[in-house]
Amino acid sequence: MNGPIPGNSLIVVGGGIGGYTAAIRAAREGMSVTLVEPGELGGTCLNVGCIPTKSLLHQAHQFRQAHSMQAFGIDPLKLRLDFAAVGAQKNQVVHQLVQGVRSLVKRNRITLVKGHAEFIEPNTVQLQETGERLRAAHFVVATGSVPVLPPLSGMDLPGVVTSEGALKLEHLPQRVLVMGGGAVGVEFAQIFRDFGSEVILVEQQKALLFQEDSEVVAVLHKRLEKRGVVIRLGQRVQLLRAAGAVPKSSIQVELTVSDSSEQLEVDLVLVAVGRQPRFQGLGLDRLGIQMNNGAIATDDFGRTSQPHIYAVGDVRGGLMLAHKAGAEAEVAVAHILFQGKTRSGFELNHQDPLSMAALVIPRAVYTSPEIAAVGLTEEQASAAHLKVKVGRFLFSANGRALSMGESEGLVKVVADAATDRVLGISMVGPSVTNLLGEATLAVQMELTLKALAQTVHPHPTLTEALAEAAHDADGNAIHIPPSAKKNFKETR
Ligand SMILES: Cc1cc2nc3c(=O)[nH]c(=O)nc-3n(C[C@H](O)[C@H](O)[C@H](O)COP(=O)(O)OP(=O)(O)OC[C@H]3O[C@@H](n4cnc5c(N)ncnc54)[C@H](O)[C@@H]3O)c2cc1C
Repeated sequence: MNGPIPGNSLIVVGGGIGGYTAAIRAAREGMSVTLVEPGELGGTCLNVGCIPTKSLLHQAHQFRQAHSMQAFGIDPLKLRLDFAAVGAQKNQVVHQLVQGVRSLVKRNRITLVKGHAEFIEPNTVQLQETGERLRAAHFVVATGSVPVLPPLSGMDLPGVVTSEGALKLEHLPQRVLVMGGGAVGVEFAQIFRDFGSEVILVEQQKALLFQEDSEVVAVLHKRLEKRGVVIRLGQRVQLLRAAGAVPKSSIQVELTVSDSSEQLEVDLVLVAVGRQPRFQGLGLDRLGIQMNNGAIATDDFGRTSQPHIYAVGDVRGGLMLAHKAGAEAEVAVAHILFQGKTRSGFELNHQDPLSMAALVIPRAVYTSPEIAAVGLTEEQASAAHLKVKVGRFLFSANGRALSMGESEGLVKVVADAATDRVLGISMVGPSVTNLLGEATLAVQMELTLKALAQTVHPHPTLTEALAEAAHDADGNAIHIPPSAKKNFKETR
């Protein structure tokens, strides 16, 4: 334990996407890396987040599609849901990916240690389970986040679950109330509804996904309602009570509606009102590490107030997304390795892609239709008093969307009125998350409308809608007739 600490040693605390990306990148660059994780590698995203929810969304969507295929000779009355098989399929996908990460960790010669790490000195962590002490010159903290549980009476009742509990259900609940209309809430509302549950979604804001473009969100809202999800906006869950008798117990929910209240009875309440950084028990206060708004405060390279300790991913707060955690891990490790300089010796600055401030983080919701966005929405640009141009293109005029039978939705491009630089792209429609890479590149590389519009997009693809929306900002879209375009603008 005593003796000098090797300068190239790194301990990564947390084996989610932020942690394992940091560990693998540092090991590839020749550092001696130890990764501490108490649970399964892959953290929230692989085990109880992105991956299992996308597996369930896909299976639920298939189930609903099969139900709607009466016209093709399938008898929907004969379709039976095997919820256990659905769960097994989801678990298989998770297992495969976790094994993949496990193998990468091994093959990159990273030492994997099981346990909860706690800082006891600036360069030493202790495992809570065994008391073993580990020392390193550098640390990356990537301990992720936990669900926010509102302080309401009845939150501990059986049948009240967070997303993690919802992923472990063995039976499909008949009546579900989803608290929260963010990405997790709307994805689960769709999963339950597509499998056949009755679903009520309660959101205290005036819109679902309220930080996204309202025109884009309206398309999803309408589709969810059409499918039978009851959406209650501007309402709050006040308290939860046990109702009925075991084993048929249910939950009575009291909602505030304007000045009055309303009672509902459901079988499951899914609490999806947000997540908060997880740092309890890490011993950060012992080292005097500064916090900001309930998250670990860092500079643009991920350095905490103890400059040899970095933090990446959900534990830094802000947007809590897997690809953000992975990108921040790359920035932090590059900074540890090159200490503020690029490989070629140039100083890094805030515009450099190796600064967290310069990362452009795309946002996606995997409902159907999907929502995908990057950069500013029209509303955000207007709130910032920016003069912008807006171009739109509807999927109803896109050949590929029509041939997929999914013509609902649009692409909307927001650009600076003076420079034509693309500031943001918001989309709703079929597979629009697959257009998000190009949209992110456009915003990240500060492309102009002309550059986006004049890039040749393959035909027939959904990506053509990006070029047409960019053209439309100047009134030049080929597939929007001038008169229709005029009418469209007048009514928006
Ligand atoms: C239901 C759901 C769906 C989601 N879907 C998406 C999606 O589609 N796309 C997307 O981009 N994001 C999605 N997310 C968000 C995404 O999962 C997170 O942003 C991402 O997992 C954050 O990665 P991370 O490495 O910061 O933390 P995590 O993945 O949470 O990993 C943190 C790890 O730290 C470990 N740990 C905690 N304390 C200690 C300690 N003391 N010592 C050692 N280890 C510790 C934990 O066990 C955990 O494995 C979803 C989240 C949820 C809940």
